[in-house]
Amino acid sequence: MIKAMFKAWASALLCVSLSVEVAASPTIRERTTDLRALLTDPARQWAANTTVSFPGSTNFENATERYSIFNQPTYTAAVSPGTEGDISKVINLAKSYNFPFLARAGGHGGANMSDFESGVSLDLSKFNSIVINSAAQTMTVGPGVHYRDIFDPLYNAGFYIQTGSCSCPSVIGVAIGGGVGRLMGKLGLTTDALQSVRLVGADGVVKTVSATSYPDLWWAIRGAGANYGVITSATFKIQPLSNNNGGNAFMLDFVLPAEKSLEYLNIIEKSFNPMPVNLAGIIVFNWNSTHNVSQVVSDWIFFGTEADARKTLAPILALNATFITATLPWNRIISVSGGGSDALNCVPNKLRNTFNLNLKTYSAAGWQQSFETLTDFLQKYPNGRGSQVILELFANNATAAVPSSETSWPWRDVRGFFQELFVYDTGDSVTAQGAATYGSQLRSQFAAYSGYSTPTVFVNYARGDERIEDVYGADKLPRLAQLKQKYDPNNLFAYGHPIPLSYP
Ligand SMILES: Cc1cc2nc3c(=O)[nH]c(=O)nc-3n(C[C@H](O)[C@H](O)[C@H](O)COP(=O)(O)OP(=O)(O)OC[C@H]3O[C@@H](n4cnc5c(N)ncnc54)[C@H](O)[C@@H]3O)c2cc1C
Repeated sequence: MIKAMFKAWASALLCVSLSVEVAASPTIRERTTDLRALLTDPARQWAANTTVSFPGSTNFENATERYSIFNQPTYTAAVSPGTEGDISKVINLAKSYNFPFLARAGGHGGANMSDFESGVSLDLSKFNSIVINSAAQTMTVGPGVHYRDIFDPLYNAGFYIQTGSCSCPSVIGVAIGGGVGRLMGKLGLTTDALQSVRLVGADGVVKTVSATSYPDLWWAIRGAGANYGVITSATFKIQPLSNNNGGNAFMLDFVLPAEKSLEYLNIIEKSFNPMPVNLAGIIVFNWNSTHNVSQVVSDWIFFGTEADARKTLAPILALNATFITATLPWNRIISVSGGGSDALNCVPNKLRNTFNLNLKTYSAAGWQQSFETLTDFLQKYPNGRGSQVILELFANNATAAVPSSETSWPWRDVRGFFQELFVYDTGDSVTAQGAATYGSQLRSQFAAYSGYSTPTVFVNYARGDERIEDVYGADKLPRLAQLKQKYDPNNLFAYGHPIPLSYP
């Protein structure tokens, strides 16, 4: 029985992959420049630790690798700068010679990049330092730092921080789009932990951006940070483990058959609505390939003692299920929970087609409807049976406690996220068509009971076909556009989920 459950876990992806199909379309820059000649010209005088690479080389493969190959950008060259001066050089060259470039940190961006053609990857992987200042309770990281890189150093120094739910995206990439995760209830968004950044602006000038230095830009980059420059380091507030049960959390994982789903979802709606501040749940609807049926996979994390966790989770523990429990130190939560699915989920270069939404209202009936629609897809499209629907249910106390005017991130009343992840082989047009049809249908169904009057999605989870107001918030856009005009008037940072130069 337990063996069968673990087999079922293997198909569960509790940390989520993002990618896109259709997007807002910035103007494609006209390209007349021979990028190879330009970038290898000795006049460039790149720093000794800067690498310039081209297709066919390992350096180029590494500098352009992406988590999802769905609607990916295409590159003619990559520059992996070793200095901020060389980042500045790339920006100035792009402006002078009119070629597109894209900052690349963790490579996990979910935006549709299919309109980014034959450009330059500005690969930030060499900016990979981690500095922990225990006295100041801060951590400063470069854009080449992934979540997996900070867990042990922080924990071993006696600290923790709010993170996303997977180990593979870059810390800064997550933070500048908000950064949602299991500690939203206790600590807020990842962006709420930011204290300052260094940024090479569209003018090529290095700026320190904080509450007291460029405060308008400080507001903008905490929610729309990919639009105003290249962030070369970020300093975050970190929290002593002693404030949080020594950093230990209680994990409760289990799998339920489809016939138990409504009963279970009703328990969640009734007992965890609102979600207790210390609790976070990730529920996955997917396919059990052993028994050829759909199923519900769950991972609950309680930040506190096992005794308190068992009290809080009592309504779930009363279910007739085989539970897997553990007490996990903070630095092991992501790698161990969900049957260790993080390792599987973080494999790059796969086609992942996603549709996501914010959620404010908990609705067992609505979630059940999504489960049934997904089951229909999984039954009809056997080659898409790695696909799944994920509900991330997070408390929002600390997130909602930050005034909305504080940051550009617009969805502080959010209480969870709905994610559809369609996985199939490249070239499988039948399953691709099914994914497109069911993806839209599921998203519309879910939007109706999300609690928002329009289908909203925050920028890190947006796929690119959403209305810009539903990504950045209609109330934030006039100021974001004004700041775009001020700090990037030539629209150099124009891909992904671009902020327009004017709004409305
Ligand atoms: C498996 C997976 C799990 C995820 N889990 C979460 C989660 O739990 N919570 C959450 O909030 N989000 C999550 N996301 C979404 C993720 O936060 C965003 O996709 C984020 O943009 C990824 O950043 P990156 O640096 O890894 O990707 P990249 O593709 O390198 O960058 C994404 C975008 O940000 C820009 N960018 C990146 N770094 C910089 C920089 N230093 N300066 C300027 N621009 C920059 C890039 O130009 C690009 O437009 C997840 C995504 C995946 C694929």
